[in-house]
Amino acid sequence: MSHSKSSPRGESSVNIIGAGVAGSWQALLFALAGYSVTLHDRDDAAMTQATSHWAGGMLAPWCEREGSEPLITRLGLRSLDLWREHLPDTPFNGSLVVAHPRDRADFERFARLTTDHQRLDADGIAKLEPSLDGRFREALFFPGEGHVEPRRVLPELHARLAQAGGTIRFEASCNPDDLDGLVIDCRGLAARETDRPGTNARLRGVKGEMIVIETDEVQLARPVRFLHPRWTLYVIPRDNNRFMLGATTIESEDTGVSVRSALELLSAAYAVHPAFGEARIVEIGAGLRPAFPDNLPRIAINGPHIAVNGLYRHGFLLAPALAELTLAYVARGAIDNEVMQCS
Ligand SMILES: Cc1cc2nc3c(=O)[nH]c(=O)nc-3n(C[C@H](O)[C@H](O)[C@H](O)COP(=O)(O)OP(=O)(O)OC[C@H]3O[C@@H](n4cnc5c(N)ncnc54)[C@H](O)[C@@H]3O)c2cc1C
Repeated sequence: MSHSKSSPRGESSVNIIGAGVAGSWQALLFALAGYSVTLHDRDDAAMTQATSHWAGGMLAPWCEREGSEPLITRLGLRSLDLWREHLPDTPFNGSLVVAHPRDRADFERFARLTTDHQRLDADGIAKLEPSLDGRFREALFFPGEGHVEPRRVLPELHARLAQAGGTIRFEASCNPDDLDGLVIDCRGLAARETDRPGTNARLRGVKGEMIVIETDEVQLARPVRFLHPRWTLYVIPRDNNRFMLGATTIESEDTGVSVRSALELLSAAYAVHPAFGEARIVEIGAGLRPAFPDNLPRIAINGPHIAVNGLYRHGFLLAPALAELTLAYVARGAIDNEVMQCS
């Protein structure tokens, strides 16, 4: 397919570095807009070094209102449309939020800080999630939210990119300065290695620990968040009777999983349903979320080099909208003052 397009700057081709969720969405939208796209990643196709590999994949702009800025909601809502448009099989079954009766104050606080939810009583919960029959007296249901399985959706995005005429190169480490023309740098935390003034130098990694368990005793159709005095933990259904338990948020760049975190994640699952106590532990791991000091994403523009980074806890939620904004800048010079920094 040859339908090469050029931007006002004259570029018709673009190199994108990093095939995590940020770079994959950039690559897909640029390829669909007619650019000749090459997506490079230093990892192999399993992408185990990417933060995206470890993520929950929740697309939850309303739940995230509890602890994030309005920008996250704005970009998140736009991203939901883009997931629906470009990956129509994305499940939008909503999310459920539950708490122990003793944590009722936390539950009410969560309800106050978020929007677009419905209150369910025990019968309502059982109708939605029969496995949770009798487990909780009350829940918040966010019907518009979705979730993806990162380890399935990244290859799907890469396949869509190939269909749109783009090229993917794995085991291809590169530096933005060594590539000609338009370069979109989506290297996540590794971008800190190139100390480009004003952009990536202030990135930090924020550890998120997770556990995957397996049981056929519990069936869930949607993520269940369990409010907990220290953090909100969640159980996300995966294929093949697996569930991901996530995630801690720790200011550390160590990628080990502590006993305390493992106990908390497993206890949350047990509190959601005691049958999780008999589940098999399949995997324990941690990823480092790339974050700027204000925990907000940035599109930093420096001539033909554009860096998209700082997606923190919201990479899957924000990547499509950030890609759309980058494309609008390259194609038409459109600036989004809340997200873009030009130097
Ligand atoms: C436990 C956990 C749970 C999470 N849950 C959610 C969630 O439910 N919803 C949500 O929206 N977000 C979630 N997140 C956050 C999300 O995972 C991140 O925001 C997102 O993965 C960041 O994506 P990225 O593409 O910027 O970085 P990455 O996924 O790290 O991708 C960067 C890529 O760049 C490549 N790279 C680096 N250097 C080079 C180089 N020199 N040359 C070529 N390639 C290079 C790397 O190999 C990597 O593949 C979670 C994170 C964690 C850790």
